[in-house]
Amino acid sequence: MAMALNKKVPMPSLDPEVRVKNFSEVSLGYDESQARAEAERCLACKKKPCVANCPVGIEIPAFIAHLKKGDYEAAYQEIVKHGSLPAVCGRVCPQESQCEAVCLRGRKGEAVAIGRLERFVADWKLAKIDLPQGDWEPSQGPGAPGQLASLAQEKIKVAVVGSGPAGLSCAATLADRGFAVTIFEALHIPGGVLVYGIPEFRLPKKIVQKEIMGLRQKGVEIRTNVVVGKTLTVDELFERDGFKAVFIGSGAGLPMFMNIPGENLNGVFSANEFLTRINLMKAYLEGAWTPIFRGQKFVVVGGGNVAMDAARCARRLGAEVSIVYRRSAQELPARAEEVEHAHEEGVIFKFLSSPIEINGFQNPDQPRDPKNGWVISVTCAQMELGQPDASGRPRPVIKPGGEFILPTDSVIMALGTSPNPLIAASTQGLDTQKWGGLMADQNGLTSRNKVWAGGDAVTGAATVIMAMGAGKKAALDIAKTLAPN
Ligand SMILES: Cc1cc2nc3c(=O)[nH]c(=O)nc-3n(C[C@H](O)[C@H](O)[C@H](O)COP(=O)(O)OP(=O)(O)OC[C@H]3O[C@@H](n4cnc5c(N)ncnc54)[C@H](O)[C@@H]3O)c2cc1C
Repeated sequence: MAMALNKKVPMPSLDPEVRVKNFSEVSLGYDESQARAEAERCLACKKKPCVANCPVGIEIPAFIAHLKKGDYEAAYQEIVKHGSLPAVCGRVCPQESQCEAVCLRGRKGEAVAIGRLERFVADWKLAKIDLPQGDWEPSQGPGAPGQLASLAQEKIKVAVVGSGPAGLSCAATLADRGFAVTIFEALHIPGGVLVYGIPEFRLPKKIVQKEIMGLRQKGVEIRTNVVVGKTLTVDELFERDGFKAVFIGSGAGLPMFMNIPGENLNGVFSANEFLTRINLMKAYLEGAWTPIFRGQKFVVVGGGNVAMDAARCARRLGAEVSIVYRRSAQELPARAEEVEHAHEEGVIFKFLSSPIEINGFQNPDQPRDPKNGWVISVTCAQMELGQPDASGRPRPVIKPGGEFILPTDSVIMALGTSPNPLIAASTQGLDTQKWGGLMADQNGLTSRNKVWAGGDAVTGAATVIMAMGAGKKAALDIAKTLAPN
């Protein structure tokens, strides 16, 4: 295939006019010839800066070398030596700020499309795995004392709390090293944000299911509907079930709000609630019963991946959608590809704007009470960029006299999340940082003996690959501590 070496082989994707009416996956993935052509762009440079910039240390040039030769099995095995969810990472990792950011090819054009190649290899493998339908259903509840499958094994037992990328990566690394691992998950389906947050059109549920099935085939037991801190405490995991270590990967699922007037009006949602209804409660499926607000106009507040996902879901429900972001387009924290897709799908961007009040319609028959009103518009302040703040980005400040009103039926707050305090509050000796994140050292060891933690529960909302890296690091430390030889 003839191609310009300074450009990535383009990713085939669904037409925006078509995809905005459904939840089908937008990026279709490379075919074999596209993948082989893109692989040829890798210079196989000696320094391999991409490897150092991958939080799980995948030997990127090595897997691409196998791909070039058409040995996809070897390419897959090379990837999973280091990372456990390649079909997920290939789709949602922010490669542009990690491995691809330092690619030598990127100095004189576009970096090698490492994520797309990872996805190609993983999808090639997953297409060969036809997993039995029923096996996807994990065991429900905590199990009677002493009856967990993992406890029957003559292996060292480790409990993992949470089945997001941090927990899954920790469990996979420990299972590979011969530990008996049980994951306890609060929701009825494992996967964390991968299933309840990221929409089907970016990360199909069946891809996550297949990746998790692979983990179960390594012998990892998954018990859903177990809220650690309520159903079982961390102390009970040690005392009741005899686990020798606990890893906490409970994420950061607590949504933040702006605390502006009108935030309690009907029609205001956290992005978490909106996306959970779409994803986990299956509102994305045609004819699903799930109650979901279907307004004509949505305002989404925020500029991260979560804001893009919420906005693009609302477009697929048929609404006109505006994203309100207080900085400029250059500072948008969402992945560039997601922003581009949102633009293509007709999402309107209002930069340098910040809501100061949500206005509601009051029912004249009821006492004046914000809980009885419905959103009719949002008053926004016009912003301008000032000096850099602690994050290094220019601080947005209100521009006097620049207020404007956006009519809308619904407002979705996508402003970030923080860790739920439940586990820290119910576990003796587990210290937290001021903002609520669990305190842990560089290996994930917390202030409590034999308890490790990682992912968003420690860092606050971050990325899939950072969470996976933390889960893997903690697993290696657990293995070293429990089985030093
Ligand atoms: C909508 C959205 C889009 C995103 N898009 C991207 C993206 O494109 N790329 C990217 O890299 N990152 C993205 N992120 C961020 C990324 O998904 C997270 O950083 C990552 O999932 C964190 O992994 P985790 O395992 O720490 O936590 P989570 O994925 O949050 O998983 C934690 C799990 O723990 C469970 N849990 C919580 N409390 C308990 C308890 N008490 N007992 C038992 N279980 C418990 C939760 O139910 C959950 O399943 C996105 C996040 C969101 C919300």
